[in-house]
Amino acid sequence: EANPENHVFAADVARLLHMMVHSVYSDRDVFLRELISNAADACEKLRYEAIAEPALMAGEAATRITLTLDKDNRRLMIEDNGIGMSRDEMIEALGTIAHSGTRAFMERFEAEKAGDGAQLIGQFGVGFYSAFMVAGTVEVASRRAGSEQAWLWSSDGKGAFTIAATEDAPARGTRVTLNLLDDADKYTERHTVERIVRQQSGHVPVPILLIEKPGEESESIGDGTALWTRSKNEISEQEYNDFYRGVSGLYDDPALTVHFRAEGRHEYTTLAYVPGSRPFDLFDPDRAGRMKLYVKRVFITDEAELLPRYLRFVRGLVDTADLPLNVSREMIQESPILAAIRKGVTNRILTSLEKLAENDKDAYAKVWDAFGSVLKEGIYEDFERKMQILALSRFKTSTSGDATRSLADYVGAMKDGQSAIFYATGDSVAHIAASPHLEGFMARGIEVLYLTDPIDSFWVQAIADFEGKPLKSITQGASDLAEVGDKDADSKNKDVDPGIAGFIAFVKETLADAVVDARTSERLTESPVCLVAPEYGPDRQLEKLLQGAGR
Ligand code: ADP
Ligand code: MG
Repeated sequence: EANPENHVFAADVARLLHMMVHSVYSDRDVFLRELISNAADACEKLRYEAIAEPALMAGEAATRITLTLDKDNRRLMIEDNGIGMSRDEMIEALGTIAHSGTRAFMERFEAEKAGDGAQLIGQFGVGFYSAFMVAGTVEVASRRAGSEQAWLWSSDGKGAFTIAATEDAPARGTRVTLNLLDDADKYTERHTVERIVRQQSGHVPVPILLIEKPGEESESIGDGTALWTRSKNEISEQEYNDFYRGVSGLYDDPALTVHFRAEGRHEYTTLAYVPGSRPFDLFDPDRAGRMKLYVKRVFITDEAELLPRYLRFVRGLVDTADLPLNVSREMIQESPILAAIRKGVTNRILTSLEKLAENDKDAYAKVWDAFGSVLKEGIYEDFERKMQILALSRFKTSTSGDATRSLADYVGAMKDGQSAIFYATGDSVAHIAASPHLEGFMARGIEVLYLTDPIDSFWVQAIADFEGKPLKSITQGASDLAEVGDKDADSKNKDVDPGIAGFIAFVKETLADAVVDARTSERLTESPVCLVAPEYGPDRQLEKLLQGAGR
């Protein structure tokens, strides 16, 4: 066992590491946040596994993370007494890209040919491998809770790693040793490390200790008090935003923070955030929600589906005392308590969005721009709340210019005699605006909603009306425009040639089965003809989508 085994990294890890080593990203500080967050995850996993198997906690009962500075040897150690890793777990976790966020990062990087990746690293962070931004070699010594044997993983990040049995490891948990690059020696300075921890990891729910020099006493630099358990008026915006970065793995500021404690029949605390910008994997079909479930401050799972799919952009957590600590996955699926929590949290997030829309239109417009296309899925997925979500929706319209409008805005601006809400579906605003179907509406000054998201063609089918006004496609069926708006616009159509009936008969005969009908129309003012879909049945954009999907 004395000889270390050699392993090569999976190809995508090698690429990622190459990028890390050559990255000139100015804010390399993020590596520490990534390593502390792994250490905190490991402590939370231990607390969770120990619920079923208390012996795992033998020895040191309280979990903690210890940072040791070693200026003389230009080293930094991050040690936790969490769950640890077995040999196989190490090879799997540190030799392949298991983390879906990291994989998505790589895909995005390839797709955008994003230079040295620096920008993207800053935006998303890429976990453990970010250690190679500051370290020439990295050693990970780990002993899994409950196991005698410890293992040492080590690598210079250049394509291979070794793994060997070791005696020199924590009694339980993991120690990551960074042999820092020449230009990264500031990470052995107390004030630098303390500042970064305060900024980035001040609210991890595990205490953080600092040892300034190997052999010296440790002192606390983070108390592990869970931010969400404190009362709202004691928490600054800065603290909320720092916590957001920790819990979400994102690096921007949140667009909306929702923090509340529900009391009464069910007791739980939610701290949830709407991110400030669109995460890169928002449309990844595998992308699960990112809400964590805690029971009495013990992390249980991030797969509890605490929010409906159409709120999958929301990040944060729910902590409840109403579930038992040893709640199983099956129980989570079926728990009526969790169903009630899900409902309460969903409602709260939607009402918080309503408030934002009311109080800060610009901020809401940004949220809508980033997440509207996902939120709209709720219009046909959430029967109970579809009207609420529809009211939250914003649209480009034929009269909106660069702004967006709500359906309430639309209804408020309807013309005399107009009884329906008209919409047009298409690939882009430019595409719709050029459509001949629009002419009659434009001429009469009737507003038309521009529905350009693929999702729009689906939910419009599920909505009969808004505030009693039916939704009608301008490409579908006969549009009764004669009674609406600026009637002078009809003047061009007034002296219709009586020969038109003959022409229509000719068209019908020539096109035969290719069309259902041919008729004169009020919707055109400039173009001679256009195709419309029948009144009943899918509209033309949906037809195209369904054909594209091979259905
Ligand atoms: P992520 O944390 O998002 O899964 P990382 O790249 O940060 O991705 O870490 C990869 C994996 O390595 C983790 O999922 C975990 O299994 C393992 N790991 C990293 N650090 C530790 C640690 N301190 N203790 C136990 N396991 C760890
Ligand atoms: Mg991580």
